[in-house]
Amino acid sequence: MVFMDKMERDVRKFMHLFGQACPEKPTLADFETRRLRYSLILEELHELQDAYAMVGQDDVSELDSLTEVADSLIDILYVTYGALIAHGLPIQALWDEVAANNLTKIGGGKDKNGKVQKPANYEPPKIREILMFETCE
Ligand SMILES: [Mg+2]
Repeated sequence: MVFMDKMERDVRKFMHLFGQACPEKPTLADFETRRLRYSLILEELHELQDAYAMVGQDDVSELDSLTEVADSLIDILYVTYGALIAHGLPIQALWDEVAANNLTKIGGGKDKNGKVQKPANYEPPKIREILMFETCE
């Protein structure tokens, strides 16, 4: 879809500008790249944790909290896109597979935190098949 393409283009532009590798095909990135990608995502997750921890404090308005929450969530998307691109992963194909697969979780119920559970007949998304196809294309 159009917005997803734009998100990927924007992150690719950043990565090219700063000399970060953007392989064309699925590739397990080198150790330094994996370490960087992990730490970027973890840093943004911690920012989200901090933002949620601010909610309801006396000196923090709802808009202050929401600003921090929005900032960290967009940063999580951005660095996650970066990690997908750094591994040369086919974002749209993987997204389509996972999104369609998630809809097959009907009937699995929810756990105590509200997370949708997998039903007994659930089959995992065909990630491997997508990567095999993309690698030999
Ligand atoms: Mg941030």
